[in-house]
Amino acid sequence: MTRNSRGSLVRPHPLPDSASHPVVTPLSPSVVYASDTPDALDAQYEGRVHGYTYSREGHPNADVVARRLDAMEGAEGGVVTGSGMAAVSTVLLGLLKAGDHVVGGNQLYGRSLRMMAEDLPRLGIATTLADPGDVAGVAAALRPETRLVLVEAVSNPTLRLADIDGLATLCRERGILLAVDNTFTTPRAFRPFDHGADIVIHSITKLLAGHSDVMLGYAAARDSDLTERMRVFAVTAGLTPSPFDCWLAERGMLSFDLRFDRAQATAAALADHLAGLRGVRQVLYPTRADHPDATRANALLGGQGCNMVSFELDGGRAAANAFTRAAEGLSFAPTLGDVGTTLSHPASSSHRALSAETRAELGLSEGFFRVSVGLEDPERLAAIFTEAVAQATSG
Ligand SMILES: *Cc1c(COP(=O)(O)O)cnc(C)c1O
Repeated sequence: MTRNSRGSLVRPHPLPDSASHPVVTPLSPSVVYASDTPDALDAQYEGRVHGYTYSREGHPNADVVARRLDAMEGAEGGVVTGSGMAAVSTVLLGLLKAGDHVVGGNQLYGRSLRMMAEDLPRLGIATTLADPGDVAGVAAALRPETRLVLVEAVSNPTLRLADIDGLATLCRERGILLAVDNTFTTPRAFRPFDHGADIVIHSITKLLAGHSDVMLGYAAARDSDLTERMRVFAVTAGLTPSPFDCWLAERGMLSFDLRFDRAQATAAALADHLAGLRGVRQVLYPTRADHPDATRANALLGGQGCNMVSFELDGGRAAANAFTRAAEGLSFAPTLGDVGTTLSHPASSSHRALSAETRAELGLSEGFFRVSVGLEDPERLAAIFTEAVAQATSG
């Protein structure tokens, strides 16, 4: 016997046998999957048997997350991507070509707006922004070469409601795809396919995963040919996700329904509480009677208001600084959907690139905050806001 023949193999195979199976989805970090024979690989590539080959093309952890979201959205074969923006890119770059025109909501997520303003035009895809609450305005923005309309059901950070039903009718009549980024609303409050949308997009990073420790996205179309085109593009462009991120996201999604319901109930109570505080000039929460789109929110979201509350403090930037300092235990951080309540200040973060005039038109003063409500005890949370508002606006 030579030394080598007694040495252990680098990759022993097969794995240890078990008649029982793990309850928790195993993490499968393997980049490559070995097949028995070239014939077996043929069968796999030809779709006669299911199997994995290379993890950029697909892996078990991504499929577990995808099927879970498919079930929530009423979709089939949706694509999980490495971030929410990878999902937006998969839709826009995977389906459009030079010469096409796109209409985007004028209050889209900041990076989606940047893609409309910079990247699509650079690739020969023309773009126009319009108010998604105004169907006539969107109709006026359409051109013969318009291929797609991209909107969010609830806008950031003023929480205005898009007229999804009206947009769906318009797009259907004109043979244009309606894509809805459902990140804020989540399928718990709103299912775009039930309202005639053609494509649904998510940043799983936010409420769905829910713990601010993973970036992931999702895109699915009602038409399976479109979904397949998006999947192929995501694989080719390398927008597909890592197994560990998917594994973490699945773990977060197990408690999503409970987290969403709890955060939403707390948000509704917090909105009412804030509206009664001296020093708070204005509160925006979709189901409150004083919200400009309350009727539409009740119709579209079934009376649910989601977990986001926006409000405006008296006293401008100085009050805003004092408020974040005084808001004990709440992170001043530009994200949403975390288990903990987070505060965002659009004038210094998401909307800082806009001119002061444009911010004023959007109603985003220096005292404006967006709150992503988490899982804190509602009364404790109300007390923290009472104290912080008082400290920020006294004197
Ligand atoms: C965060 C967010 C995105 C982008 O998602 P990432 O996971 O951060 O890439 C897209 N759309 C909306 C509405 C978002 O809130």
